[in-house]
Amino acid sequence: AKKDGGNGYRYCTEQLNSNSFEFLRLAHELRDAVSLKQFVLHFQPQIDLASGQLVGAEALVRWSHPRDGLVYPGRFIDIAEQTGLVAELGNWVLREACTQAAVWRTLGFGPIVTAVNVSALQLRRGDMVGIVENVLRQTGLPPHCLELELTESILIENVEQTLAQLNQLKQLGIKLAIDDFGTGYSSLAYLNKFNVDRLKIDRSFVGQIGNPANDAIIHAIVQMGHALGQRVIAEGVETAAMRAHLLDCHCDEAQGYLFAKPLPAAEFAKLLAGYRQE
Ligand code: C2E
Ligand code: CA
Ligand code: CA
Ligand code: CA
Repeated sequence: AKKDGGNGYRYCTEQLNSNSFEFLRLAHELRDAVSLKQFVLHFQPQIDLASGQLVGAEALVRWSHPRDGLVYPGRFIDIAEQTGLVAELGNWVLREACTQAAVWRTLGFGPIVTAVNVSALQLRRGDMVGIVENVLRQTGLPPHCLELELTESILIENVEQTLAQLNQLKQLGIKLAIDDFGTGYSSLAYLNKFNVDRLKIDRSFVGQIGNPANDAIIHAIVQMGHALGQRVIAEGVETAAMRAHLLDCHCDEAQGYLFAKPLPAAEFAKLLAGYRQE
């Protein structure tokens, strides 16, 4: 097996024991899929709650598996992480998302920010700044139209090196968001150290809207984000009642099935065109 960088393969023992055949099959097929670029991106709209305008898109990767059909990231992102393939996959996702976003801009669709998920491994490799800079230059996408979504776990590992990289990324003019906020290691110390633009309230909180203790947490996250100059977006918004509650809490933006599921690029473009006419 081909070694990747210094890490090589880091098979997780539990996963190997519980379902080793499936893991090895997917790990093997994933390597080919990455070199053959057997992936597509779907885009999910992000809506400004006060104005109802479409203000952003999150790019979400899917594997066009030759036999299994469309495979969702829940089945392969962990494997991609453990085999190191997520770095190359992540580079493809970044380039594809920026290419698409640049096309939409050229077509005159209103200003939107395209968000791309970044895995811990991509940052650990230390070459993200150069990669992002190249992709922006080659696609012509203005930096302020790109946002990278980071998880809390990324921020607490290797703080000094991460901080230096994120500062350089910010200097390129791109935006940074903390994904799944509130589910990580609950260290708030990094929040004023890292210069992030947005907090994404995790779906698990949004799904429990109506529970008083949970609602207090949502309220507190919004207040804290605003106090730190950040915008706050809620993910997994599925009902009008959830939207109404988030609006009451002054949450800025929302994303979820209430507005649209993640869509293939062509369908997302139709949605964009529709919003522009409103
Ligand atoms: P995430 O970043 O938290 O992405 C949001 C997930 O929630 C997506 O699942 C999306 O389809 C789903 N979702 C959106 N709205 C709703 C809703 O209203 N209700 C419910 N129940 N779910 C909703 P998806 O696309 O299957 O992605 C799962 C995870 O895989 C993502 O979670 C992210 O952690 C990871 N992922 C996806 N694309 C990439 C990528 O390009 N790179 C990396 N490193 N990870 C990715
Ligand atoms: Ca995300
Ligand atoms: Ca998320
Ligand atoms: Ca998540």
